[in-house]
Amino acid sequence: MSSLKAYKYRLYPTKKQAIRLQEVLDRCRELYNAALQERKDAYRMAHLSIGYTQQAAQLPEIKEIRPEYQDIYSQVLQDVLRRGDKAYKAFFRRIKQGEKAGYPRFQGDGRYDSFTYPQSGFSLTEDNRVCLSKIGTIKVKMHRELEGTMKTCTIKREGMHWFVIFTGEIEPELVYHPSGEAIGIDLGLLHFATLSDGSTIENPRYLRKAEQKLKKLQEALSRKKRGSKRRRKAAQLVGKNHRHIRNQRKDFHHKEARKLVNGYGVIVFEKLQPANMSKRPKPKQDEETGQYLPNGASAKAGLNKSIVDAGWGQFQQIVTNKAEWAGSRVLFVSPKYTSQRCSGCGSIAKKELAERWHSCSCGCELDRDHNAAINIKRAGLLLLEKEIQARTEPSGDALLRSPALQG
Ligand SMILES: [Zn+2]
Repeated sequence: MSSLKAYKYRLYPTKKQAIRLQEVLDRCRELYNAALQERKDAYRMAHLSIGYTQQAAQLPEIKEIRPEYQDIYSQVLQDVLRRGDKAYKAFFRRIKQGEKAGYPRFQGDGRYDSFTYPQSGFSLTEDNRVCLSKIGTIKVKMHRELEGTMKTCTIKREGMHWFVIFTGEIEPELVYHPSGEAIGIDLGLLHFATLSDGSTIENPRYLRKAEQKLKKLQEALSRKKRGSKRRRKAAQLVGKNHRHIRNQRKDFHHKEARKLVNGYGVIVFEKLQPANMSKRPKPKQDEETGQYLPNGASAKAGLNKSIVDAGWGQFQQIVTNKAEWAGSRVLFVSPKYTSQRCSGCGSIAKKELAERWHSCSCGCELDRDHNAAINIKRAGLLLLEKEIQARTEPSGDALLRSPALQG
């Protein structure tokens, strides 16, 4: 994400240059008014609406009839037409919204006071001059430094003075998280999340309550006759409650994500595996409510339903977005063996889904999900270590191993 910032500097044109700037400004104003007139006429006489593209297509012809337009940078002229287009669109938008709107105004001598190089045709020299295509090189007073990448250049007259306004695009500063601490997170069904420090994040009670209510509403819906008015009403109610739960869940995700991002510089998740999940029976969606229906293979489908509803993907996305601004790193590791591996000795022991306790011959005893969260954290730190190694590797070594030198 980047932001635009405007930098305004005073220009010191020579007398000749000032006349030239005024000339360009006058031609731009004339073009602006002509473009407005054309739109107005087309609409009044034929109810036609003329857009930017059609007007811009006429520029070559205009340059032939009026050679003085050849002396103006093409993108500057295109920008004039775009301004007219903007004014027109704003006018119609206000009318559509039922507001009182004045027709875009024809611009008199003193009113139209700037023109813009929207992309190119301008540059700054080392000795503080701005080069404008088809105009020349004009002295600028750079009273403060311009930051970022220059995107546009606008020349503006204010009374007797001339100014140049650059917009600079600025990349956000790199943020470093104050904490170097890492946390591994196992997302689950029993607990919403189990952390590598042994704590858990539970689904909030209001959410569980709302889900129970939704379940009742769904049962009521299923008893209504297909195609009946009552069924439609019940379906609407189910839909409404479903949306409500979705919003509540999102709030919950935001709140928990904020806590994680505030507390930890490194956050490690398991990669979600949609491919694995789809091997199980695909949950059927009710056409009326968008709710997931049981589909025969009830246990597996039930798990699927819960996974879909738990919104893990959404939670990971929210954490990732917040982390970007806070300077935390979010890592995703393979879920392979995270539950099976012993976090104490590293040996792998198969576990059934129902086995809630991890007990190893090495003496390691802890909650199944806690064990998994520790493994997730460890895998994340390993990933980070590899990344840092790759970055700090002496360049000579990297060169020796490059395929070009191995002939
Ligand atoms: Zn062990």
